[in-house]
Amino acid sequence: TDEYVRKPEWLKTKINTNRNYTDIKKMMRQKKLHTVCEEANCPNIHECWAERKTATFMILGDVCTRACGFCAVKTGLPNELDWQEPERVAESVEHMGLKHVVITSVARDDLRDGGAAVFAETVQEINRRNPFCSVEVLPADMKGEYENLKILMDAGPDILNHNIETVRRLTKKVRARARYDRSLQLLQNAKKINPETPTKSSIMIGLGETKEEIIETMDDLRAHSVDIMTIGQYLQPTKKHLKVQKYWHPDEFAELKEIALSKGFTHCVSGPLVRSSYHADEQVKKVKET
Ligand code: SF4
Ligand code: SF4
Repeated sequence: TDEYVRKPEWLKTKINTNRNYTDIKKMMRQKKLHTVCEEANCPNIHECWAERKTATFMILGDVCTRACGFCAVKTGLPNELDWQEPERVAESVEHMGLKHVVITSVARDDLRDGGAAVFAETVQEINRRNPFCSVEVLPADMKGEYENLKILMDAGPDILNHNIETVRRLTKKVRARARYDRSLQLLQNAKKINPETPTKSSIMIGLGETKEEIIETMDDLRAHSVDIMTIGQYLQPTKKHLKVQKYWHPDEFAELKEIALSKGFTHCVSGPLVRSSYHADEQVKKVKET
């Protein structure tokens, strides 16, 4: 139908463009860096930037070779690989004084390694400059190749996060160029490469999935040794993107969290405004000792 479901009260966020917010914005422009906070129109940007002084860096350019039906990141001819980007990210992490940072990227299907080398270099640069900052990586599937993931894992991230995004049945519609099983395999491979590194995955709900399907996804993630799960409400970024089919109620999110914990996830963050990188610092078991 062409009817839009009305956005409920619990999704309203407060706008805050204080000094922290403008500082982060200015720094990102100066250093020619991108954040998923801005590129994906994240509803939490005012809280994360202004109140928590944190952001999620999006590396490997701001143009994605894919065009997922839910995602506001630009699609097209990718940027040239920028080998100075890792250093600029590391300097920014230092400037912001972060204790935990999440690094994500666009999908680089044009590159043989899917961008793994620059991603790995970014982790290493951050560690060199910020030995007490934990690093959470949130890569695309890097073509699903074990070797690419190995390059990234060998850089020593503190958390490997890879989003399954939606339930099995809706994967084709929601992220046409990805595969549900390829993402599960990536998560399992990460555990194989380094069993000590916690793994994490996220889904957005409200795209037409049922509760049973969400539970099935939890089981699939647990069957692939995933430790942490986050669940958030899908929001339509523009009229061209997939429509919201349902706004799940906060009580339902709370129930899903209980179910997830009963399945053995060590952490589950579940709520309407939860995103893969929302309050990510709180899920780190042991922030590096200062
Ligand atoms: Fe950025 Fe993540 Fe915060 Fe959204 S939740 S503003 S993507 S850090
Ligand atoms: Fe967005 Fe990632 Fe899909 Fe690219 S691969 S369109 S950045 S969700």
